[in-house]
Amino acid sequence: MPSARTSKSADDAAQYVPEGADWAALRSASCGCRGCGLYKDASQTVFGEGPVPARLMMVGEQPGDREDVEGHVFVGPAGRLLDKALAAAGIDRSQAYLTNAVKHFKFTERGKRRIHQQPRRGEVVACFPWLREEIRVVRPRLVVVLGAVAAKALLGASFTLTAHRGEVLEQDGLRIGVTVHPSAVLRAENRDEAYDEFVRDLKALKKAL
Ligand code: SF4
Repeated sequence: MPSARTSKSADDAAQYVPEGADWAALRSASCGCRGCGLYKDASQTVFGEGPVPARLMMVGEQPGDREDVEGHVFVGPAGRLLDKALAAAGIDRSQAYLTNAVKHFKFTERGKRRIHQQPRRGEVVACFPWLREEIRVVRPRLVVVLGAVAAKALLGASFTLTAHRGEVLEQDGLRIGVTVHPSAVLRAENRDEAYDEFVRDLKALKKAL
C-alpha cells in the first residue's frame, strides 16, 4: 500500500529537514520550508507541539485560520472541541504531542474570510518528511490520526477511515489509532451524536496507550 511514509518526491520538504536533528532544530528549520507552494499564502509554519517524547501523538490535517495567525496547533474551534472530547475520554491533552499532516494553512479567500481548503495528496506527500521526523523524536507509543487526510498520510491513499474508526492498526512498526477530525464533528448535521461517537473512539484508543 503506497503511503506518504514511503513516497518520494524531488520537490518536497526533505531538502529542508536537518538530518538527525532534535525537536527544537526541526521546528526552527520548518519555518523556512518551501517544500510545496502552501508557504506562499499562509502566515507561518505551524509545527507540532507537546511533550517530547510522548506516549500519545495526535495528527490532524492542517492548521486552520486561528492556528495560522497564532502559530500554534489546535487553538481554534476544532481544537476547543478536541480539548473537550479528550477530557471526556479521560485523556490529558498536556501529555499528548499534537501536530498536523501539513504544516501550512491552505485556504481560498471569500471577501474577508479565509475558507479552509483540503490539501492535495501531493502537498501531504511533500510535507511528510516533517511528520516522519516528529514521529522519530517524539517516539509515541500510539499515533492517533484525526480524519482522512492524516490517516491517508500514514496508512496510504486508499485507506478508508470509516471502516476503521476506533481501531488500532500497525504500519511499519508504528501503532496507529483511527478517528475523525474534530472539525467533522463541528460540521455534522447531528453534532451531539457525532461528538458522542468521537468520544467513544477516543476512549477505545486510550486503551492502547
Ligand atoms: S506545507 Fe509542508 S512542505 Fe509545504 S511549504 Fe509548508 S512545511 Fe513545507
